[in-house]
Amino acid sequence: MTSVWTADLPHDPSDPLDDGARYDHVVVGAGITGLTTALLLARAGESVCVVEARTPGAVTTGNTTAKVSLLQGTKLSQVLSRRGPSVARDYVEANREGQQWLLRFCEDHDVDAQIRPAVTYASSPQQVSTVRREHEAASSLGLEVRWHDRLDVPFELFGATVLAGQGQVEAGQMVTALARDLHAHGGTIVQGTRVAKVRVHGDEVRAEVTDGRTVVGRHLVVATGTPFLDRGLHFARLDPKRSYALTFSGVHAPEGMYLSAGQPSRSVRDVPRADGTLLMVGGSGHDVGRDPSPAKHLDELRAWTQQNFPGAVETHAWSAQDYSPADHIPYVGELPGSGGRIFVATGYDKWGMSQGVAAARAVSSWILGNDPEWARPMRASIPTLSGAAKAAMTNAKVGLELAKGYVRAELAPLPAQAPAEGEGVVGRRGVKPVAVSTVDGRTCAVSAVCTHLGGVLAWNDAEKSWDCPLHGSRFGADGTVLEGPATRPLSRTESPRP
Ligand SMILES: Cc1cc2nc3c(=O)[nH]c(=O)nc-3n(C[C@H](O)[C@H](O)[C@H](O)COP(=O)(O)OP(=O)(O)OC[C@H]3O[C@@H](n4cnc5c(N)ncnc54)[C@H](O)[C@@H]3O)c2cc1C
Repeated sequence: MTSVWTADLPHDPSDPLDDGARYDHVVVGAGITGLTTALLLARAGESVCVVEARTPGAVTTGNTTAKVSLLQGTKLSQVLSRRGPSVARDYVEANREGQQWLLRFCEDHDVDAQIRPAVTYASSPQQVSTVRREHEAASSLGLEVRWHDRLDVPFELFGATVLAGQGQVEAGQMVTALARDLHAHGGTIVQGTRVAKVRVHGDEVRAEVTDGRTVVGRHLVVATGTPFLDRGLHFARLDPKRSYALTFSGVHAPEGMYLSAGQPSRSVRDVPRADGTLLMVGGSGHDVGRDPSPAKHLDELRAWTQQNFPGAVETHAWSAQDYSPADHIPYVGELPGSGGRIFVATGYDKWGMSQGVAAARAVSSWILGNDPEWARPMRASIPTLSGAAKAAMTNAKVGLELAKGYVRAELAPLPAQAPAEGEGVVGRRGVKPVAVSTVDGRTCAVSAVCTHLGGVLAWNDAEKSWDCPLHGSRFGADGTVLEGPATRPLSRTESPRP
């Protein structure tokens, strides 16, 4: 599936990576966080190499809904109630820093962006109290929200809090502009190259990619969505959440960024383009690898759209995932035990447009020896190793999924027939769980055990991929790593036919 942003994305060629190449800094990952971090370092005159496993924007940043907003669904009331007013105020300030930088960057680099009101609304009478709580939280944090009992929209709305003057961007143009500006400042972007290992040697960090080549820097920034390095144990404090989005032509799209307060969530925005404005509808999120039919979520969004915007003609449909932090605010800072050489930024909870840029501004400042006041609270967000280890051991949801996966595989011998087109099954061959699928007429059998921490994979019938219910690693039908903390592909097994 291809998003409206990535469908026409120009593919700039990769820069070469010479084995043992040395840069001032290495950034792993070319999403919004990695590209912005690298750009800020390059603008300061430092040499920077970005190493990207796929292509810039290929994972979450190119598949976002791209709202750059301080009102973020019901996030502010959650942070306020769980972490208190001081952390909540710092959270808003960091997002403001990210938002302002990004909207200015888009203006300076001819990236399409619009100013729109952000709206958190109740899609049922039961949600009104939740939206009221968000309204009060936002107001107490200094945001000039207005309450509306009604708004002129074609879908059911029972009350809303509205923050004027927020932004939405064209995410594909943004990725291209960030990458090109980085090149213009002398930065290097190596594509199609996955970092597998990282080691600190004295005052430098050595990253090894999957084919064994290395790249060395004084600092390394892990900007990979969820960190692929297990040593910080961040995966144990992050919940991978997958959600869906579609665009439609042929209907009037309201000029606002709407997000419902309850489940199943509904997100609506307009996408102005040279050839007419599209309607974007998103939502219906769930835990990665724990839903029996991801494709059904797209169908639900299609049905909701036809009900509320009759005659809408689908142009694009896609899905993507982001990571929700157990502590409600992103983890941005030095990796514990790395002696200040490795930085991570993760856990944006589907609000990484402003927060990813804030993280990039913070991390690049720290690397350059600056310590902006607004970024100080972020540095304290990184869990200590002992705290993260405790979370890893007590993550009951993950333990349960692990056990369930093995029991499911154990109980199901592999069927004799290859799966039908677009389907995948997990079963047992001997003692090993094997995953078999048929995609585009090709039947593939791969190990059903995630190469990260051994979860049993589940078939994703929307993306035709194998998804891990433990920490969100995803693999293609042929076992190729797509995203998540895994760095090694699934091993292929012999032909599935008996
Ligand atoms: C459906 C959806 C809608 C969203 N809508 C919004 C929104 O409206 N507003 C908002 O603020 N946020 C939104 N978000 C969240 C936002 O899009 C993300 O938080 C943000 O894009 C994350 O950026 P990133 O740079 O951290 O990660 P990514 O964009 O995922 O980039 C990480 C990169 O690292 C690469 N990588 C991973 N592992 C390795 C490795 N070992 N070696 C080399 N490279 C590696 C990946 O290939 C990838 O390109 C949404 C998220 C989703 C899922």
